[in-house]
Amino acid sequence: MYKGQRSDMGYVNGLMGNRPEDPKLRDAFKLAKEANLPIEFIISDFVPTVPNLSRVTVYSNANEKVEIYTDSTGGGTVKLLKIDGFDVEIVGDCYELIVRMDGDEAAGQAVLSQITAMFADNEGMSVSHKDGKCLLNFKQRVDYTAEQLDAVSQFDGVTDAKVMKPILAVASNRNAKLPFHSAAEMLAKATAENKTLWELGVEYECARSGWSEREVLDYMKHVVETMEHSSTEALEGDIDMQGIIEPTAGKIESYVKSNPKALDMGVMNTAVPWAMATMEYSSAMGVVLCAPTGGSAGVFPGSVLGTATALGLSMEEKVRMMFVTSIVGIVMSKDCNYSAELYGCQVEPGAASAMAAAALVYHMGGTPKQSAAAASTALGNILGTICDPVAGLVQVPCIARNALSAANAVVCANLVMGGYDPLIPLDEAAETLFRVGKQLPSELRCTCNGGLCTTPCGQRLAREQEARDNAR
Ligand code: SF4
Repeated sequence: MYKGQRSDMGYVNGLMGNRPEDPKLRDAFKLAKEANLPIEFIISDFVPTVPNLSRVTVYSNANEKVEIYTDSTGGGTVKLLKIDGFDVEIVGDCYELIVRMDGDEAAGQAVLSQITAMFADNEGMSVSHKDGKCLLNFKQRVDYTAEQLDAVSQFDGVTDAKVMKPILAVASNRNAKLPFHSAAEMLAKATAENKTLWELGVEYECARSGWSEREVLDYMKHVVETMEHSSTEALEGDIDMQGIIEPTAGKIESYVKSNPKALDMGVMNTAVPWAMATMEYSSAMGVVLCAPTGGSAGVFPGSVLGTATALGLSMEEKVRMMFVTSIVGIVMSKDCNYSAELYGCQVEPGAASAMAAAALVYHMGGTPKQSAAAASTALGNILGTICDPVAGLVQVPCIARNALSAANAVVCANLVMGGYDPLIPLDEAAETLFRVGKQLPSELRCTCNGGLCTTPCGQRLAREQEARDNAR
């Protein structure tokens, strides 16, 4: 999948020292060539311990060599699992001190104790040992000074000490006291304190991040602006999707809004084209919000922001609606993550539609309980959806599924506000979502070994795309 999902561009962009959201991502290969940075992709078999495992070997001009194993875990998140054969668990939410040393595990533990004593903050640590050498990893929320690194280098047996900077916007906060974990706890708190879900979303994010309320609100405004930009840019712009289909969101928008033959869908006339446009922009390597994942990046911009724009809502209300989507997404995934490789397409655009339905109900004046009911209804509608991206690209059926999910959110919001009761509490519906995902065979979880991928047409498109990718 690495070419289809543009992981290759991501690696090159990262090796160039650029952040994931840097627009230079789409020109990463060209820029690497210009910078005389040779990069080779070697396809070979090795036993994957997790889906989406890859092995990256990096050489420096000074003949240093580092081999890392990475795992893409969905929603734009990655995990480093090994560095030169030593076990680590790095997700990019800390300043990671990486210390190499000679000695056995006991020696490693002794040095780690010295390091721990040096720093007040401690977001996690580990010692990995093999062949008479250790790799120590110490995590904290703030950067290390040159003096501190120098002091660590002086400890017994230490041969190297380096720092990896975080890539996520919000740092780890293991001591955070979160106000609730499940949907049931969230709803109980909303009732007891007479609060809306957006207020609880802000409270949760402040507790999780350690940021002020103002910072959290401003960051969500930035999220809304980025999402709106991705939709409008693709609707207006002439974009190259570099794949098996051409952009159609703009044409669909003008058809549904101006052709008398079109079936009138009300706010969905905006929501659906916005959802598709964002996915098209993503295919063209534009900057999108992976919320909750890249494959579902169109659902919130379409169903929440497209609808809000169609209704003429203010930025303040859009921000509030987005806090409802996010807090519902958090409680739904308390024990799992939104990864189609693990749980199928149902946890990508499908799960996003549940979060968006909750936000729409909030805007319509519904109670927190009704928001949760709309989310549960939406989940019931998409249970079991498989992940089968044709030719490995997030285009077919992905873009249409984002359109459907935007519509699912709008439909479920109206159903619940009109009186429908899905009966199943949100916590139980979410637990079912991930349980059903585990029951899906691997052929139907983003491996291109099932579903539409294995149709004769799907296989032909995959061959054609491979030829194009090899030529780039
Ligand atoms: S089929 Fe669904 S989960 Fe799979 S890549 Fe497409 S949108 Fe993502």
